[in-house]
Amino acid sequence: QVTDTLAKEGPSSPSYDWFQTDSLVTIVIYTKQKDINLDSVIVDHRDDSFRAETVIKDYSYLVHVALSHEIQEDFSVLVVENVGKIEIVLKKKENTSWKRLGHPLENHNSFIPKKDTGLFYRKCQLVSKENVTHDTKLFCLMLPPSTHLQVPVGQHVYLKLPITGTEIVKPYTPVSDSLFSEFKEPVLPNNMYIYFLIKIYPAGFFTPELDQLQIGDYVSVSNPEGNFIICQLQELEDLFLLAAGTGFTPMVKVLNYALTNIPSLRKVKLMFFNKTEDDIIWRSQLEKLAFKDKRFEVEFVLSAPTSEWSGKQGYISPALLSEFLKRSSDTSKVLICLCGPTPFTEQGMKMLHDLNFSKDEIHSFTA
Ligand code: FAD
Ligand code: NAD
Repeated sequence: QVTDTLAKEGPSSPSYDWFQTDSLVTIVIYTKQKDINLDSVIVDHRDDSFRAETVIKDYSYLVHVALSHEIQEDFSVLVVENVGKIEIVLKKKENTSWKRLGHPLENHNSFIPKKDTGLFYRKCQLVSKENVTHDTKLFCLMLPPSTHLQVPVGQHVYLKLPITGTEIVKPYTPVSDSLFSEFKEPVLPNNMYIYFLIKIYPAGFFTPELDQLQIGDYVSVSNPEGNFIICQLQELEDLFLLAAGTGFTPMVKVLNYALTNIPSLRKVKLMFFNKTEDDIIWRSQLEKLAFKDKRFEVEFVLSAPTSEWSGKQGYISPALLSEFLKRSSDTSKVLICLCGPTPFTEQGMKMLHDLNFSKDEIHSFTA
């Protein structure tokens, strides 16, 4: 429920309503916000429980009911952006008139800070698994047809598996299926697939179990989390991406989004830190992209190269950064994204502050 304090401090509470025709039931959520889109709402229908979570800034609005009648498995979600309205259209199993939508379940009609909501999971099926490097694989998971979920750019989800009787949870960042996916026809129109680039650590706790899954097996996927907001990219001119190892994963969608949707963008430069050449994820795709799109440049830096490597070497350093981070003009709007092992990210942040980049110009991806 909305308390006085919340109403004063946060955005005003959304509300919902519903109406029906002979064959359809439409649930309408009035968000009272303009900057919403299909990423803003996550819908799950399971047995007779229907759950729609709308994320508005740092708050979450929940419609959670046991439906009074049965519905078909699939449904559609529409967003009327200019009035901030979300419509969820359910198909009735039988053409009878519903007297009520259903009865309220836990936290129905509540509007609470997102940090106070627990993570909600749904089971997704492993559809494919493809080797990318000697230890990193591209996993494709399929959402159930009774779920609407789109992971926003720069956000991660948690994967959950039962391991020796305990449920274990680890965060992973969805990627596009390739760096060129915007040029391909989508396989299915309604975003049913989520892709992950995951490094398997033989001595790790979670990833060897994940690697054991067979096609058709299930893994639970949570709602998205993360503090990257897409408006950090608005009006941007120079985007610098500093990625180490699988710290490349959040950069994939940021890169695709920026190149496709930010008209002001002049330059995107990725500095990609790895141990050896064999560890570089999607190297040929990155080189191909740099060849095709003149705004994009990539530089590889290896910390344990072979003697044949003629490129840059070492860990992240002030010398590497000051040479790499050249603005296209003195006043250009810049964003530097940073992700990798904790010492890499911490050292990188300190170096960027020392180079006089402001907090607003830096985004580090962490849990
Ligand atoms: P762990 O059991 O955590 O072990 C990892 C490695 O460390 C192993 O080699 C292990 O032997 C070693 N190790 C473990 N404990 C110790 C110790 N005490 N001392 C020394 N060595 C030790 N990873 C991806 O591959 N792709 C992603 O998209 C991705 N996204 C992420 C997003 C976020 C927000 C965060 C925080 C992490 C992300 N990660 C990602 C990392 C991921 O969450 C896991 O940490 C990773 O998969 C390792 O899990 P694990 O249980 O298999 O290994
Ligand atoms: P890795 O061990 O293969 O190392 C890759 C590069 O990181 C190295 O070549 C080096 O340049 C740099 N590096 C490693 N240790 C360093 C140190 N102590 N100081 C400075 N630089 C160092 O990396 P990996 O196994 O692919 O691990 C990737 C890391 O990224 C994991 O810790 C993972 O949790 C993290 N990650 C975080 C997010 C996120 O927070 N959103 C997303 C994806 C991955």
